[in-house]
Amino acid sequence: MTVAAARSNGPRAEPFWYAWGRGLMGGRRDMTVHSLKRRVGPPAEPAAPEPRPGIDDLAHRTERVAAVAALHADDVDRGARFPLEAITAAKALGLMGLMAPAELGGEGVSLGEIADICYSLGQACASTAMIYAMHQVKVACVVRHGVGSAWHENFIRRLVTDQLLLASSTTEGSGGGNVRSSEAPIVYDGDRISLVREASVISYGAEADAVVTTARRDEGAAASDQVLAVFPRADYSLERTIAWDTLGMRGTCSAGFTLRATGETGQLLPEPYEFIHAQSMVPAAHILWSSVWAGIAAAAVEKARKYLRKSMRGGAGDLPPSAPYFTRAKASHRALRALIATALDRYAALEADRDALMALEFQSEISLLKVDTSELAVQTVMSALRCGGLSSYRNDSDVSIGRHLRDVLSSPIMINNDRILANVAASALLTEVSGTIRG
Ligand SMILES: Cc1cc2nc3c(=O)[nH]c(=O)nc-3n(C[C@H](O)[C@H](O)[C@H](O)COP(=O)(O)OP(=O)(O)OC[C@H]3O[C@@H](n4cnc5c(N)ncnc54)[C@H](O)[C@@H]3O)c2cc1C
Repeated sequence: MTVAAARSNGPRAEPFWYAWGRGLMGGRRDMTVHSLKRRVGPPAEPAAPEPRPGIDDLAHRTERVAAVAALHADDVDRGARFPLEAITAAKALGLMGLMAPAELGGEGVSLGEIADICYSLGQACASTAMIYAMHQVKVACVVRHGVGSAWHENFIRRLVTDQLLLASSTTEGSGGGNVRSSEAPIVYDGDRISLVREASVISYGAEADAVVTTARRDEGAAASDQVLAVFPRADYSLERTIAWDTLGMRGTCSAGFTLRATGETGQLLPEPYEFIHAQSMVPAAHILWSSVWAGIAAAAVEKARKYLRKSMRGGAGDLPPSAPYFTRAKASHRALRALIATALDRYAALEADRDALMALEFQSEISLLKVDTSELAVQTVMSALRCGGLSSYRNDSDVSIGRHLRDVLSSPIMINNDRILANVAASALLTEVSGTIRG
């Protein structure tokens, strides 16, 4: 069954992805639609209230998507092509709208659970994981700041029922990674709005079902006076202006486009982007991107472990001299995961407190998370490479680190660490060093 066919089935007692899942599980005898429901969804009884599926169920669905992603990862990388199979599987298993509240059809899943999905996918296929992470960053923004707005609530319902894939457009023209500055303005005509934007990077722009974009509030507004707008696919056209042939993250297909969109004023999120940026965009992006990079690093560490075990089998049980690099890789990977876990705990504790989220202290912490995790992720993959030596340097070995290294090298430049460090420097001056270890 195709996506279009699945979507045009009309009212039904079960979400379309269960039926669609028949195709996904087609090759496996033990995976009938009934066992799929039992394994991945709420009870089949239509009248029963649908409970929020438990973490085990989510883990199972994630595992299945990761398996599909891993199967196609090399081909996606080689061809710099969109990981259609994995994203189709994620849609089929209902992973796109997880964070939507139950009242709007979602499962009310936390950012921490989404981070675990990104981590698992990162081990399988970095491009799939980053696409999923970028999508969920936009979901986090729309869910947190759109609930209460009729247009956005409808959109969130559609996100869940149609399993929409949301793209992000923040990078524009000559502005590079300065997300808090927009060139193109929203133009108003009564209740109607339009936007023409030179979007120099929109990952999976051609494959997305909607785009969530920053824009200058109006023609007279300053570059930093921004709004966040949601445009479903029917509301915009994309004209490709820049191709995507990169070292890594090749499957994200992050080409440049001229984005031409029209819609209604209700599509603008009610709050200024300044608040969305601080409370949702940066925390979700930095935590979820970091989880993807931790996943890439985990895959590299596992390759190093495999190399060591093989060497020991072939060398009378002795560890090879490169073994300390494995220890280093494990240690930096542990530090990387600990940083993400701490940030998740901090965000969960402050989530409901807008002032605390906007405070200099949290903003510095969450900005620097990205700098620290990207550097630790690169360091971990490099240690894994040095552990495996030539075997890991080769592209044709089962312990090759090449793809992981190329993918993880995108992390310091995806919103450049230098830019973040320069931005945080001034505010860092204003906060004293903590007097306690946990403070
Ligand atoms: C895999 C991937 C996917 C992406 N997907 C998207 C997407 O879907 N949508 C989107 O909008 N964008 C996307 N981006 C773009 C991303 O958000 C940033 O805009 C982009 O990485 C910035 O690129 P840049 O290096 O050209 O620009 P800049 O950030 O301008 O950096 C250019 C250079 O200037 C230096 N520099 C800049 N500012 C400072 C400063 N203040 N102090 C010191 N040095 C500075 C940097 O060190 C760097 O060398 C993606 C990027 C990647 C890598």
